[in-house]
Amino acid sequence: MDRRAFLRILPRVAGAVAVGGLMRGGSPGAPKPRSIDEAMAADRTAEPTRDEGTIAAPEIDVASPSQLRAVIKARDFDRAYDDDLLVSEQQWDLLVRTAARLERAQVVVGHGNFNRMGFDEIIEFSHSYSDIGTFEVDELALMDELFHADASRYGFLGEKVIENLSDRLERKDLKRIPGTGHYLLRGPSLEKYERITADLGDSVLLTSGVRGLAKQYQLFLRKAVETQGNLSQAARSLAPPGYSFHAVGDFDIGKRGLGAANFTESFAETDEFKKLIDLGYIDIRYPEANEYGVRHEPWHIKITT
Ligand SMILES: [Zn+2]
Repeated sequence: MDRRAFLRILPRVAGAVAVGGLMRGGSPGAPKPRSIDEAMAADRTAEPTRDEGTIAAPEIDVASPSQLRAVIKARDFDRAYDDDLLVSEQQWDLLVRTAARLERAQVVVGHGNFNRMGFDEIIEFSHSYSDIGTFEVDELALMDELFHADASRYGFLGEKVIENLSDRLERKDLKRIPGTGHYLLRGPSLEKYERITADLGDSVLLTSGVRGLAKQYQLFLRKAVETQGNLSQAARSLAPPGYSFHAVGDFDIGKRGLGAANFTESFAETDEFKKLIDLGYIDIRYPEANEYGVRHEPWHIKITT
């Protein structure tokens, strides 16, 4: 689509869906916690039955109260906190509608193709296939807003790796990995995966490879719907669009047969994971108590630095 035309449209709808449409959870004006004890106290008021007495101070050097807060929240990542950022009630229907259109797009183009598609490509497909249906102006504005917003507002403190919404993966740079439905970038990613499978054989497989913006939107918005519009909770599990290192080479590895449990701490208990550690393959992007406010992801292999 004409990118400039889209940008001209955006300001007219921005008031309804953009920054002003997002709101914080919890009570407005509540003081930000300055220490772990204060943060824990705030959480106890939010969810009094939870036992948090054993939580220790983070091992990392935190630079600010908000970073400390993000690190604490990532330990029990898949729950809501009082100071999480939520979409407004007016935005909820829009969020669900946009997420549903992305799910339909994935079905129409196929999961493998969808993994490598860019933002503009998915818009083009939506025009051509009635089973997807054209993205509406407010849906495009929501996606634009999510891409350009500072993700630290959600408590996601990782760096942005994709600068332009129009960036796309080139077919010549990708290799489809048979039997997985995923692609890897040629170069260090593919070489590392090939070394891993040569050493460990068929017991491991690629569970997510390179991801274009379309796939990252689909994953992030699906999670945002699951969390009832809680963008902070979603961002503790999935990098917002533009912030995922899957776009530039990182990939996920799993044990064959373990299924969805590959994306849980269970993977770290497998012999395959221990072999990967012993052979020096594991360089984890998001270790325990990482500085980015993201949950521990032992399955996520870091390629770029
Ligand atoms: Zn990953």
